[in-house]
Amino acid sequence: MAEFTMELNDEQKEVRDWLHGFAADVIRPAAAEWDEREETPWPVIQEAAKVGIYSLDFYAQQFFDPTGLGIPMAMEELFWGDAGIALSIVGTGLAAVGVLANGTEEQIGTWIPQMYGDVNDVKVAAFCSSEPDAGSDVGSMRTRAVHDEAKDEWVLNGTKTWATNGGIAGVHVVVAVVDPELGSKGHASFIVPPGTPGLSQGQKFKKHGIRASHTAEVVLEDVRVPGSCLLGGKEKLDERLARARERAKSAGKDGTRLKNAAMATFEASRPAVGAMAVGTARAAYEEALEYAKTRTQFGRPIIDNQGVAFQLADMRTQIDAARLLVWRASWMATTGKKFESAEGSMSKLFASETAKKVTAQAIQILGGNGYTREYPVERMHRDAAIYTIFEGTSEIQRLVIARTLSGLPIR
Ligand SMILES: Cc1cc2nc3c(=O)[nH]c(=O)nc-3n(C[C@H](O)[C@H](O)[C@H](O)COP(=O)(O)OP(=O)(O)OC[C@H]3O[C@@H](n4cnc5c(N)ncnc54)[C@H](O)[C@@H]3O)c2cc1C
Repeated sequence: MAEFTMELNDEQKEVRDWLHGFAADVIRPAAAEWDEREETPWPVIQEAAKVGIYSLDFYAQQFFDPTGLGIPMAMEELFWGDAGIALSIVGTGLAAVGVLANGTEEQIGTWIPQMYGDVNDVKVAAFCSSEPDAGSDVGSMRTRAVHDEAKDEWVLNGTKTWATNGGIAGVHVVVAVVDPELGSKGHASFIVPPGTPGLSQGQKFKKHGIRASHTAEVVLEDVRVPGSCLLGGKEKLDERLARARERAKSAGKDGTRLKNAAMATFEASRPAVGAMAVGTARAAYEEALEYAKTRTQFGRPIIDNQGVAFQLADMRTQIDAARLLVWRASWMATTGKKFESAEGSMSKLFASETAKKVTAQAIQILGGNGYTREYPVERMHRDAAIYTIFEGTSEIQRLVIARTLSGLPIR
C-alpha cells in the first residue's frame, strides 16, 4: 500500500520541470503576440509536437499516472505559460477524451492519432457539444443524427457553437440527439472525419480572453458519416437507449434524475480545468509578488505596506487551497473514489473563482502598469474569466454540489 504523501515523486518533478521550461521559454514569450493576433499559434503547437508535448503519448502517460496528479500538474504548468496558447495545445485533448470515453478500441486506434497529425503536419481536433440554445442546458440540444439503415450511415444536421478548434480541426467529435424523448440520455457522439462534405465553420468569435485559442460555430448540413463513426457502435447505443427508456419510465414524468446524471458526467474531468485556472492564477501572483518587491513608493517597496503584502498572502493561500482541491479530485478520479460531495465540481468552482479574483488583485498591485498590455497581468485577468464559464459555469458547479449534498432536485 502506498504511503500518504503530499510530495510529487522524482519522475513527476522531472516532468513538471521539463514542462515549466517549455512554458517559460516557448509559450510565455509568444503569449502577447498571439493574443493580439487572435489566431491559432501553429508554430508553437508544432514546437510542442517536436518536443513531445503535443502528442497522444504524452497525455496517455500523464493520464495513467497512478497518483492522478499527472494531468493537473501538466495543465498547471502549460497554462502558467499562457492560457490561450496552452488551450490551443491541449484543446485536441477534449476531443480525444470524448473518443477515449465512448469509443471502441478500433475507433480509439483509428481516430486519436489522426487528431494530432504528425510532427511535420500537426492537426487539431474539436469537440462540439454546445449549441446556441443548449449551453448549460445540454438536454435542449437540437442537432439531430438519423440512421440511414439502407446505407448504414448517420446523417447529422444542426449548428454547434463555441467549439474550440471548430472548423479548423481535421477530426470533429459531434454530440447529437438520437432519441429526442430521452433528453441528454438520448445523445450520442460521432466522429466527423476530415474533409467530410456538409461540415463548415460558421462565425469565428472575437473573444475577451484566451484569444490565441480558436473558437467558432460549426454548421452541419446533411453531413453523412459511416456507421463506424458512431462512438461505441450501434449495438452499445441500442442497449444504452433501452436502459435509459426503462429508467425514464421509473423516474415518472419528473426528468430531474436524468438531468442530474447528465450534469454529473463531467465530475471526473473538471479538476483538469481547475488546474488550468491554478496555472493562470499562479502566473499572475508571481508577477504581482515580483512587482511589489521592486516597485518603490514613499521611499520603500510597496510590499512593505501590509495592505499590499496581505493581499499577496491571501492570493497565495487561495492558490494553494485551489491546487489541493484539484489534486484531491484528480486523485479520487484516478483511484476510483466516489465523488460523494461533488469534489470534482468543488475543485473547478474554487479554482476558477480564485483565478478571477487573484488576477484582478494582480492588476491592482501593478497599478497603472497592471492595466496596460505592457505587462501580462491584464491578459491573465481576461483569460481567467473563461474558467468560470466553460466545462460548466460556476452556477452549474454550485447546482451540482448542492444537489449532490442535499439529494434534492434544487433548481
Ligand atoms: C472560449 C470558449 C470555449 C468553449 N469551448 C467549447 C468546446 O470546445 N466545446 C463545447 O461543446 N463547448 C464549448 N464552450 C461552451 C461552454 O461550455 C458554454 O459556454 C457553457 O457551458 C455555458 O453555456 P452558455 O454560454 O450557453 O451559457 P448559459 O447556459 O446560457 O448561461 C448563462 C448564464 O446563466 C447561468 N445559468 C444557466 N442555467 C442556470 C441554472 N440552472 N442555475 C443558475 N444559473 C444558471 C449560467 O451560469 C450563466 O451565468 C466554450 C465556450 C467558450 C466561451
